[in-house]
Amino acid sequence: MVRADTALRRFIVVAGGLFLCLTVFLGITAFAEIPDELEIDFFDVGQGDATLIQTPTHHTILIDGGRDATVSRKIAAELPFYDKTIDLVILTHPDLDHMGGLPDVLRRYRVGTIFSLDVSKDLGAYRAMMDRAHADGIPVVSVYAGDTIRFVPGLEMVVLAPEKGQIREEDLNNSSIVVKLTYNTKHWLFTGDAAEESENRMRARAQPLSADVLKIGHHGSRFSSSAAFLQAVGADVAVISTGAKNPYGHPHPEALERVARQGMTVYRTDRQGDIEMRSDGTFMTITTEKPERPASPF
Ligand SMILES: [Zn+2]
Repeated sequence: MVRADTALRRFIVVAGGLFLCLTVFLGITAFAEIPDELEIDFFDVGQGDATLIQTPTHHTILIDGGRDATVSRKIAAELPFYDKTIDLVILTHPDLDHMGGLPDVLRRYRVGTIFSLDVSKDLGAYRAMMDRAHADGIPVVSVYAGDTIRFVPGLEMVVLAPEKGQIREEDLNNSSIVVKLTYNTKHWLFTGDAAEESENRMRARAQPLSADVLKIGHHGSRFSSSAAFLQAVGADVAVISTGAKNPYGHPHPEALERVARQGMTVYRTDRQGDIEMRSDGTFMTITTEKPERPASPF
């Protein structure tokens, strides 16, 4: 592991360097083809999580990698064919439905930095991923609540969880890395598989949780999305990343009811497929792969 502040600085510097090389090489066409807005793609990867963020500063961030190599195909369809760089991979916690596709991502893309929990999970896929990262010289950074990446003024990502000393290998869900992305007036909260215990700790900290979009914790498990947490976030839009007919019964009716009571419009990857959000920092558009309308409380 690398100290967070050092590695965060390196991430910005490295990413900036790569961007500079890329634009020099590609010339003006790169500017013409890369949209000057934030794009967030919640990929339909079945039962799991995988979200790609492309910032207006031309940074690419992947939060989790789903269960298998599906995520690589989805990323390839989003990025320009010449772009094989992912500046930052955030593995919220090393469970297979978040990590299984990452070894394939590491094979196909140049990854700048990995944020991961400081755990020694005895899982073949996790070891394989870490071995690959070490072999490729990719810094693996443990981040904690309060760590912040400032891309430019108005665009930043803040880590809300876990706190130092709160990581438990026997409860990885409640150890999930939770981040909040801000672009001017718009905010997105990505919760991994955090459950009520982690939600309560986040509420207890003096940090604004408010967001416009909430990636619902743990695929809509009934042990996540407590009414108090939903209220503290106050989001208009909920995204549930889950597989159709999954054996866990996600999303659970109790969680859905709490979300509905909060008045949120619900997008689900099992029903709408890939969910794409674009924002200029003031307005946001949402488009879905499949035509099914989102579940609206109105
Ligand atoms: Zn999960």
